[in-house]
Amino acid sequence: MAERCDVAVLGAGVAGLTAAALLAAEGLEVVLLEAHSQSGGCAGTFRRGPYTFDVGATQVAGFEPGGIHHRLMAHFGLPLPEATPLDPGCSVWLAGETEQIALWRDPQRWVTERRRQFPGSERFWALCAQLHRSSWAFAGRDPVLPPRSPWDWRQLLAALDPAVVASGLVTTATVADLLRLCGCGGDHRLRRFLDLQLRLYSQEPADSTAALYGATVLAMAQAPLGLWHLQGSMQALSSALEQALRQGGGALRLRHRVQRLTSQGGGWLVQGQGPAQRPFALEAQQLVCSLPPQALPALLAGGLPRSYGKRLESFPDPSGALVFYGAVDRQRLPPLAGLHAQLEWTDPGSLFVSISAEGDGRAPAGQATVIASVFTPARPWFGLEEAAYQRRKQQAMAGIEAGLQQLLGLAPADYLHRELATPRGFAGWTGRPFGFVGGLGQHPSRFGPFGLASRTPLPGLWLCGDAIHPGEGTAGVSLSAFTACRQLREAQGAPLRLRGGETPAAAAGSG
Ligand SMILES: Cc1cc2nc3c(=O)[nH]c(=O)nc-3n(C[C@H](O)[C@H](O)[C@H](O)COP(=O)(O)OP(=O)(O)OC[C@H]3O[C@@H](n4cnc5c(N)ncnc54)[C@H](O)[C@@H]3O)c2cc1C
Repeated sequence: MAERCDVAVLGAGVAGLTAAALLAAEGLEVVLLEAHSQSGGCAGTFRRGPYTFDVGATQVAGFEPGGIHHRLMAHFGLPLPEATPLDPGCSVWLAGETEQIALWRDPQRWVTERRRQFPGSERFWALCAQLHRSSWAFAGRDPVLPPRSPWDWRQLLAALDPAVVASGLVTTATVADLLRLCGCGGDHRLRRFLDLQLRLYSQEPADSTAALYGATVLAMAQAPLGLWHLQGSMQALSSALEQALRQGGGALRLRHRVQRLTSQGGGWLVQGQGPAQRPFALEAQQLVCSLPPQALPALLAGGLPRSYGKRLESFPDPSGALVFYGAVDRQRLPPLAGLHAQLEWTDPGSLFVSISAEGDGRAPAGQATVIASVFTPARPWFGLEEAAYQRRKQQAMAGIEAGLQQLLGLAPADYLHRELATPRGFAGWTGRPFGFVGGLGQHPSRFGPFGLASRTPLPGLWLCGDAIHPGEGTAGVSLSAFTACRQLREAQGAPLRLRGGETPAAAAGSG
């Protein structure tokens, strides 16, 4: 006999943990199924000897009053995990330059920096700031995007105001269009800076990142928003959400890989493999799926409406990632402005580098972890013969080390530990098809109203995660989970509202 519950949540990354904790706090009987032996997914950690490495995400957003993690923890009545604001959020090094562009936390300091770095670009930045203000206030009124039901539409319409309607004029524009509009289309240095920053958040360069999305992420490092460094490791965020789930009486089942979803009798049968490869079956009234949508056709085995299946197939492949995990004596590192840097680099691609802080729990005293990630097309890493795969991996590792030598002066002999994860490793770690990371990308054709909805055509199946609005990042996926849970509860006639935390709109007003 299959076990029964009100809601089964699939995948215990930040999205699935958030959804499960929210629904458990509503008094629903929730079972969260996770294939791995720990939660966290792309925002998890792993240990190697004395080192703790953050697998993917190394910075968090949404910790400011009104930010989604701040609101969620207030709702659960739990403290936010201990974290330090990053200042600068990142230092960007363009190829061939000897001075960094620092994304300072203080907005005025950032204005001074960008005026010095990119003279003549203030109209562009002023337009971005205006779009960001209206988008942020809009987001604070909890709209549902894209709308798929009368209730979704009501949430969307209630969140609109004249500024949002006006910024709607650029819904289909890209960041490069904004540059041209402001007379900065010929500023190649600014364009290189923007391409680097936007690829990090949207997988797309300036000429294919939606202007409204780009304007928001370009303001993410500055107060009153900002980026944070978690004390201990990134796992601290997942542990806090696990605590919220337990507090609500929900169950987390680790080592439970979901293999089949079948719609039956108004609910769902979830089948898969548990520990020691024992099969399990679970009957749930509702399903919240945080796995990438590319996983749905196999899980539903013909149970997807044709047009929906075709839509899923029509999305271009998301990126894969190469991630170098190293450890060094801290004295080998140059004096640094901040813990995060971006280096414009060609082989295997531009690097995003994160260095642990002394005493932050990731490395013994006097040592530091150094993580460098690069986006890469994922599929070509599969189907290679073992020898060819290893050659390619060594090449990529050498390319990343050369970049780190340029940026930090580290020689190969300086590493106390080093290893590289490829898309094959990410496929194994996260169960994501081809190790795809980063959702669908924020091209105007897939952004906001044109994106994939959390409400699906299958009754009782809701989606969240980095392919759902507002997209990738720990804060983005928590927001997507909040939307899916609101829709689920509304369908049950019991509206879900967050208690206690300020909304972003209220926080902006008070600032
Ligand atoms: C290299 C890299 C760097 C990043 N840097 C940052 C950063 O600095 N800041 C930031 O905010 N974001 C960053 N991100 C993005 C962020 O990590 C992700 O957007 C976010 O963590 C995704 O969360 P998720 O819950 O949607 O998916 P995931 O984290 O992928 O979680 C999905 C979970 O589902 C489980 N699962 C998969 N298949 C099954 C199955 N069949 N049955 C049961 N369970 C299953 C997986 O094991 C996993 O735990 C980065 C990502 C990468 C890859």
